[in-house]
Amino acid sequence: VADSVLQAMTRPLIDHRGPEFSRLLQSIEAQLQPIFGTAGSIFILGSSGTGGLESAVASLFSPGDRVLAAPVGVFGQRLVDMARTYGCRVDVMETKPGFAVDAQQLAERLKRDTARSIRGILLTHNETSTGVANDMRLLAEAIGEHPAYTVVDSVSGMGASDFRMHEWRLDAVITASQKVFAAPPGVAMVALSARAAQRAVAEQVPIFYFNLGKAKQFAELGQTPWTPPISTCFALDAALEAYHAQGAQIVWHRLASYASAIRAAAAALGLENFSQPGAHSNTVVAIKAPAGLDVAELLRGLREERGIVLSGGQKELKGAIFRIGTMGSISQTDVMAMLGALEIALWQQKLQVRSGAGVQAALQVFLEDDVAKLGDGSATDEQTDVQTMATPR
Ligand code: PLP
Repeated sequence: VADSVLQAMTRPLIDHRGPEFSRLLQSIEAQLQPIFGTAGSIFILGSSGTGGLESAVASLFSPGDRVLAAPVGVFGQRLVDMARTYGCRVDVMETKPGFAVDAQQLAERLKRDTARSIRGILLTHNETSTGVANDMRLLAEAIGEHPAYTVVDSVSGMGASDFRMHEWRLDAVITASQKVFAAPPGVAMVALSARAAQRAVAEQVPIFYFNLGKAKQFAELGQTPWTPPISTCFALDAALEAYHAQGAQIVWHRLASYASAIRAAAAALGLENFSQPGAHSNTVVAIKAPAGLDVAELLRGLREERGIVLSGGQKELKGAIFRIGTMGSISQTDVMAMLGALEIALWQQKLQVRSGAGVQAALQVFLEDDVAKLGDGSATDEQTDVQTMATPR
């Protein structure tokens, strides 16, 4: 989290039923709308991303509703569990691990629903557990005119690429403060289409704290129903200002460049990417653990001896992959340092990697990338590097 964002949290607190908070909410919503690609309401909940997902599922579906889910990993499966918790009958469309949802298969599945009995579709934009990104434009096209409410978990995707909620006719899109926006955790953002907002207000739903009908009523007064995490809202507002000051396209480009540099480094080291071509995420790179690698020991060594925090696999993928995030206040220098440390850690486990090959491959991506950036006159990453170096961690 950037210093400017952390500093915003130290502002004196304000009355959450007063005009300053109302202006803060307006500022956050106005800054989020172009990122989500909607002019509609975006509600702020005092919660992590999961609360936002639960609010959408509980507000849009009723017990007994038939819902089609297309999970591509642990977080997609969590949406399935959530919908079942609220009494939905969930049909699961399976996808092989590491792959994105097949748009054609989704279209065919929905075409077979001639009675239009499917009330909801649950999708994950970016699956953090496998480093897989779904192409939401293609999936939206596959859904076409089907009337089901579409809920999209974009917790680790929103802000990392072009997103057009309104154009793609998505009904509920959810993200969280601690991912691409690089603010501290504690705020979930839930954007609703007009028809979803209407339903959330009209229906009696079995959820109280995360009731989006209440969120809508209070948003109209410039408030949240319950006491909000004001300091985290200050931070989110500052993080969004920084996002827009940099420019969305630059942020997308930066994340894509970090992710491709990491993938190039992995390939040069003889490591295999877990996500399949065409399904790569810009925000998380998942790498298969080669035979003989103790992932837990790799992560421990990097964390304790080198101050670098990577993640392992979740559930069935524990021990089988490790994951590298690109989100946050991270510079090219951080990426290069991490890759250097990773090579050393692999050597320590006696894995035969060609020394320097990963770092060199990443450097090549950055060098080619910077030339491209200079070509279109966009800013370089220099500023981020300077900021990072000025703040020893
Ligand atoms: N969905 C995805 C894709 C995620 O990456 C995460 C968290 O990493 C969540 C949902 C859950 O979000 P939270 O931990 O903020 O509740």
